[in-house]
Amino acid sequence: MDYSMIGKIEKSKKYAEDPSRVTFNSFTLEFKGSNSSYTITLGPDGWHCSCPGFQKYGICPHIMSLERSFGPMLKREPLPYAPGQNVVSDVEKAKQYALEPDRIQFLSFNARFRGDHSEYTINYDNGHWDCDNDYFKSRGICSHTMAMERILKGMVKPLMMPTTES
Ligand SMILES: [Zn+2]
Ligand SMILES: [Zn+2]
Repeated sequence: MDYSMIGKIEKSKKYAEDPSRVTFNSFTLEFKGSNSSYTITLGPDGWHCSCPGFQKYGICPHIMSLERSFGPMLKREPLPYAPGQNVVSDVEKAKQYALEPDRIQFLSFNARFRGDHSEYTINYDNGHWDCDNDYFKSRGICSHTMAMERILKGMVKPLMMPTTES
């Protein structure tokens, strides 16, 4: 491992302490609920969840828990409660879910990452990482992707260090 890589690792640790550097443009993830797994997407049209509650109310405890966990990375207003929704029960579930990050597995995401000098775009698709900066293009890893891995630990497939790839 060379010195530039050691510097990037140090930088990624510092970056990871401030999730507000990240802004999700879009993502698709699997969410393990109490009984079944659901697919949640965030995109230009807003939130969607495949659970029955979302179909009925346009809000659900799964999305509410993501709003808790990822708040600084969403930069958007929380979904409003809906008439008829069991808010007390849903808030309880969302609180509990937010303590259990292993319920979440990202399939893909696209996010902006604010570095010290400029902003970069990170793309993740089923274990394939990309970042639009020169260091990533030459090395296949950068402080931004490493920071994202730390922030989303266990929810994404880690990018193998180029030196350990077989
Ligand atoms: Zn849901
Ligand atoms: Zn980068």
